[in-house]
Amino acid sequence: MDAAPQDFTRVLSSMCTVPHPDARDAAATFLADNPGDPATYPAVSELEDEVVGMLGEITNLDDPQGYVASGGTEANMQAVRAARDLADTDSPNVVAPESAHFSFPKAADVLGVELRLVPVDDDRRANLDAVQAAVDSDTAMVVGVAGTTEFGRVDPIPALGDVAADADALFHVDAAWGGFCLPFAEYDWDFADAPVDTMTIDPHKMGRAPIPAGGFLARDASVLDALAVDTPYLETTGQATLTGTRSGAGVAGAHAAISALWPQGYRENYERGMENARWLVSELRSRDYDAIDPTLPLVAFDLPPGEFDALRERDWRISRTASGETRVVCMPHVTREMLTDFLAALDDVRAG
Ligand code: PLP
Repeated sequence: MDAAPQDFTRVLSSMCTVPHPDARDAAATFLADNPGDPATYPAVSELEDEVVGMLGEITNLDDPQGYVASGGTEANMQAVRAARDLADTDSPNVVAPESAHFSFPKAADVLGVELRLVPVDDDRRANLDAVQAAVDSDTAMVVGVAGTTEFGRVDPIPALGDVAADADALFHVDAAWGGFCLPFAEYDWDFADAPVDTMTIDPHKMGRAPIPAGGFLARDASVLDALAVDTPYLETTGQATLTGTRSGAGVAGAHAAISALWPQGYRENYERGMENARWLVSELRSRDYDAIDPTLPLVAFDLPPGEFDALRERDWRISRTASGETRVVCMPHVTREMLTDFLAALDDVRAG
């Protein structure tokens, strides 16, 4: 085989990162184990239960329900599916800020649910009044995002949870990317003190686990019961996951990464990411670029299309938001040296 895996030294656009070495080893060891068939593969199934417990500790949820999904898309889809099936209506809708990840339109399409996307405020966070206005008696779920894909913003989670509770709807928090930062960031909520019913938190993003390791968490067992189907040919009675056969690599990799990094390693990742994000913003501003203040380790700034294209041609992996800002995600593999090289390339492009 001639193909080589992506070299991460110029990757600034990804929400995934280089796995922790322990996670890489564990993934290779459990590659052929199938957590979808616990009676045949009990060891990886036990590891999965432990990962759910660890994710509960990170999000402050006692007795967590959930599983290791293929990624944030599956976890979000399953949250919508459970809400649809638990809601007491024939025409359920889901209310989400327009900053929500495109997995929600996908989920709505697959599940036949109406998705009501509502505007965000000036700081690109869910606009509470708009959410309130969109909710009605057919609302099955309200979505809040804790770490938006494009700008890294965190919605007003407790207040959104109250809107959901008043409407008798489930409240889902998509912390697929932000989840491993939140315990160290300046937010005063988690499962323990906000009315959150379900959450997406992906070990294969900020958690430094290998792909595929998404995380789906639920406060209440009824959510998993709503998702479970009978599994006649397996020795276990039901399966709540969307996929059937799954790779043990994600489960074992997530277990190893979290064991190695929670909490101190994740704290260091978060703090280094934030320092890098703030430093990059100040460097960009000193060059007269408009850069948005980061709330999590993600920088968005205005870059003329010609400069964007020239940097891409030099193999810098950067991407743009729907409104055209360039994004730099300060993942654990993104070092100060990388950002210094990136700025040197930018200066070179500007010099013509
Ligand atoms: N939710 C958020 C906030 C994301 O940023 C992403 C992906 O970046 C997803 C969900 C989807 O995750 P995945 O690509 O692992 O399915």
